[in-house]
Amino acid sequence: MQKGAPRMDAVIEARGVSKSYLRGVTVLDDISLSLKRGEMVALIGASGSGKSTLIRSIAGLIPIDSPRGNGANAGQIHVLGQPIQRGGRISCSRALRARIGVIFQQFNLVPRLSLLTNVCFGLLGRVPSARGTLGRFNDDEKRIAMQALARVGIAEHALRRSNDLSGGQQQRAAIARSLVQGAELLIADEPIASLDPASSRRVMDLLADMNRNDGLTVLVSLHQVEYAMKYCPRTIALKDGKIAYDGPSSALTPAFLNRIYGAESEELFLPSFGAALEQGDGLHWADTEAAINGNGHWSEPATIVIPHAPTVAMTKSHAKAGRLSA
Ligand code: ADP
Ligand code: MG
Repeated sequence: MQKGAPRMDAVIEARGVSKSYLRGVTVLDDISLSLKRGEMVALIGASGSGKSTLIRSIAGLIPIDSPRGNGANAGQIHVLGQPIQRGGRISCSRALRARIGVIFQQFNLVPRLSLLTNVCFGLLGRVPSARGTLGRFNDDEKRIAMQALARVGIAEHALRRSNDLSGGQQQRAAIARSLVQGAELLIADEPIASLDPASSRRVMDLLADMNRNDGLTVLVSLHQVEYAMKYCPRTIALKDGKIAYDGPSSALTPAFLNRIYGAESEELFLPSFGAALEQGDGLHWADTEAAINGNGHWSEPATIVIPHAPTVAMTKSHAKAGRLSA
């Protein structure tokens, strides 16, 4: 694989990225991917497939593996046209970090501070750090934060302590923090994994709105494929640290996922999807809508039926639509 200069039109450009936490245990195995400005892309995969590791690597939070041998095969990641890491060394400037918003499953707010102060922390890249780290923000800064809280629909809670609020409200505050930060790229690691269906929809609607109306590029890891299909035109599917599929989300029928993941595909569907799956191998838009909109029973134990090994697992349209390398 050629590992020369990055494509300058790419917002994320990762090439030859490998990662092992423990020697000899490969978690990411020679991953290459590219996201263009304005894309909204889902990253799916079973637990342990490497989603969080990939997201943290792209965000410059953990180093990828350093090259073996002479360094010619060093993996590298560029974000917004600048190197974020190469060959195991993180080289992310403060200015670049300010252009990347990162959202976590557990919200990462300071629990005992107000939502308003938490959102103001998004301005840390722009205010003198002595003042910012003490949580002293002026009226103009608070006004910006209030606007962002209004945008995500929780302005009335601005002065409440973040740990007094629901998970969905905290996640919306984390999104507001990315808004005031002025992020151009939003990387979200399972942002809806701890949320109920209504809060999940609200958070995904917000991400989609920021993608559409503010031009943010969004990479979001999701445990459930229904959300990928509803919100993200493109999906990258990880399996055991490798890219198993990268292409249109519309190709992700249960049969197709079963082909990629085998029995592991079970955990990628909402419980309420069982009925739809029983009816055949096709995943239809109406079924996705029904599952996401809560016509099913979210909290019931999974009653998923995986369609029997499909005879038409890989149709020509899948092959044309995406890249299957399982
Ligand atoms: P996912 O987000 O898809 O569930 P992760 O990236 O969290 O996957 O984990 C991928 C693999 O890496 C798992 O086998 C996990 O146990 C391992 N792993 C993750 N973080 C660490 C760590 N800090 N130290 C050692 N192993 C880790
Ligand atoms: Mg994870």
